[in-house]
Order: sequence, then C-alpha cells, then structure tokens
Amino acid sequence: MPLADIRAAVAAQAVKSGRKPEEIKLIAVSKVQPDARVEAVLQAGHRRFGENKVQEALGKWPDFKTRFSGVELHLIGPLQTNKARQAMALFDVIHTLDRPKLAATLARLREELGQCPRLLVQVNTGAEPQKAGVLPQEADAFIAQCRDLDLPVEGLMCIPPAGQDPAPHFAQLGDIARRNGLSELSMGMSGDFETAVAQGATYVRVGSAIFGDRDYG
Ligand SMILES: *Cc1c(COP(=O)(O)O)cnc(C)c1O
Repeated sequence: MPLADIRAAVAAQAVKSGRKPEEIKLIAVSKVQPDARVEAVLQAGHRRFGENKVQEALGKWPDFKTRFSGVELHLIGPLQTNKARQAMALFDVIHTLDRPKLAATLARLREELGQCPRLLVQVNTGAEPQKAGVLPQEADAFIAQCRDLDLPVEGLMCIPPAGQDPAPHFAQLGDIARRNGLSELSMGMSGDFETAVAQGATYVRVGSAIFGDRDYG
C-alpha cells in the first residue's frame, strides 16, 4: 500500500542523507479524505495524522480516537483564536503558531487548562502575502516572545512557494531553528518530502501520496 512505499522512501532518503530513519516522523495528512481511507491507514497501524481545519477534525477524530488507541493528531492549517480552545483539546501538536494574538490566546488557555499541545512556529519563508506565517526576519523575535509566554515551542514549520525549488526554503527554516535552539522541523509534502528529509526535516506531512487525490466535490 502507498503508506508502506512512503515510509520506505522516507527511510531510504534518510540513509542517503546520512541520517537515521527514526529521526523523521511521518504525518499522514487525512484532510478531506473519505473516512474509509483514513480507517484503512489506521488499520495498517499508522497513528500520526494531520488535519488542516479544526471543525473537520472534530467531525472524525473523537470517534476514531475511541476506536484506535495511541493516535497523535497534528493541526497543520491556520488556527483562528476563537477555535483555539477546541484545538488545544483535540490536537497533540499545533504547527501553525504564526502571530502574537494567537500566542497570547494559547498562553492564556494554557494557564486555564493546565496543559498545552506542543507548538511549532510557522515561517513564511517565501514572504508570500497570501500565506500565513511570520516573516523570516521576524522569526527570532517572535520565538523569543513565545518563550517569554512559557509556550512549549519545539520547532518550525514552512510551506515553500508553489513552483519554486523548495530546498533553499527548507535550508532557511533549518538555519532559523538552529540559531534558536529548536529541534523540530516540519517541512515536506507529497511532492517534496525527499528534499525536505535531505534538508533536515523531522516531520514530513504527506497527504495525497498516501491516501490518493483529494476530492473536494
Ligand atoms: C494538505 C497539506 C499537506 C499535504 O499535502 P499533499 O500534497 O497532499 O501531501 C501538507 N501540509 C499542509 C500544510 C497541508 O495543508
């Protein structure tokens, strides 16, 4: 099945890049996929999944989580502050911390709830106006601000501009992580996860290559 092929490709690229395969965590991106396809991947033993909308994730994961133990859920899409409370209850990792207002909201809820998902700061490496994320030149200050708020920031995430060589974007994300002492790098999708692994990704987010094309209907 495609899941096994992707795992094998990640491992092969890791070895080729002088890395250990277990350094790279594969997130199966299940957004928009029919439940039967998601269930097949759960049945195959995979437990790490990504969704890009809180509402959509709430519609399927509470049920899947009661039927399959050990699920680890990742939010990889933009988070509105009015959905932050629900997101904090459902997700284990949020990859899209991208602005001071959201940081303040998460910090307040963390105090109130006594717990917080692991967090990654999204960086808009291509400085694209339509894309979320802090600008590369603002990243150090924003990371420091999140740390002042005691938020559990573990790493960085990026989505390179479509149609460009992603390698320099991944390399830049790695530079920002290193100089800020962050260990996790969420980068690489179906089309470019091998490049991302070569550039140091610790999370790759792969959807269509595992599940098949998304049918938005
Ligand atoms: C949809 C999505 C992915 C997966 O995309 P594929 O090309 O299907 O692998 C990865 N990251 C983010 C942020 C996404 O929204």
